[in-house]
Amino acid sequence: MGEVKVMVDVRGVHKSFGDNEVLRGVDLRVGTGEVVVVLGPSGSGKSTLLRTINHLEKTDRGLVSIDGDLIGYRRRGDKLYELREREILRQRAHVGFVFQNFNLFPHLTVVENIVEAPISTGRKPRAEAHAQARRLLARVGLSDKENAYPRHLSGGQQQRVAIARALALEPKVLLFDEPTSALDPELVGEVLDVIRDLARSGTTMIVVTHEIGFARDVADSVVFMDAGVVVEQGPPAQVLDDPQHPRTRAFLSKVL
Ligand code: ADP
Ligand code: MG
Repeated sequence: MGEVKVMVDVRGVHKSFGDNEVLRGVDLRVGTGEVVVVLGPSGSGKSTLLRTINHLEKTDRGLVSIDGDLIGYRRRGDKLYELREREILRQRAHVGFVFQNFNLFPHLTVVENIVEAPISTGRKPRAEAHAQARRLLARVGLSDKENAYPRHLSGGQQQRVAIARALALEPKVLLFDEPTSALDPELVGEVLDVIRDLARSGTTMIVVTHEIGFARDVADSVVFMDAGVVVEQGPPAQVLDDPQHPRTRAFLSKVL
């Protein structure tokens, strides 16, 4: 990774649900300002991996750190202690999460959705939170929708609001879990354009997506996951055009 500072460091992460071992020792490092695109078949553990990064899922083994801070634990001597809920929430505020299904608050307007977290966590006074929300809405091209309710927006517009909302806490890293999978095809581009713009401005991101063209354009690094492990990782030209592993080749031949 050269002189780029590591922002997200996932080491040896294992996670099982019952006897289903979903993550089997995942290692992943994301440098500051880098964009990593994660590909892989359904059920390979991509969502679970994202969820372990902000401690929405507790790992069975292995650790995650963000900007040098261990997530979910405090180390004392050679022992690990789980953090209290309040401290976990504070860490989670550094990680923006954008879901497949937008997950906007339906009873709040667009601007209220965006200012909710910064105000309720005491991060920003009301006026400042609103001013920031307007800047973010301009950035995602939705200045005219400030007072609309989510149900009056298209899926693409809702997802752009969700991105603005994730940015409002000024996260150190943004995680996207198939952000365009629930969208009608004609709305995919407007969401990918926003993510592309964030990438250009140096936002550190991990993007789970099946959009291979986007990965080729935007990713610094492409990760192919299968059955709970990282099978292959490298620059897009390498992983997408000259995959070394038969499982990567088989997957790409289906999605390309
Ligand atoms: P992907 O996002 O790559 O499709 P997931 O991480 O969602 O994969 O799921 C990987 C496996 O873990 C699947 O077999 C899924 O059924 C299982 N799984 C995910 N979350 C849970 C959960 N909360 N409880 C039980 N099984 C789960
Ligand atoms: Mg998933």
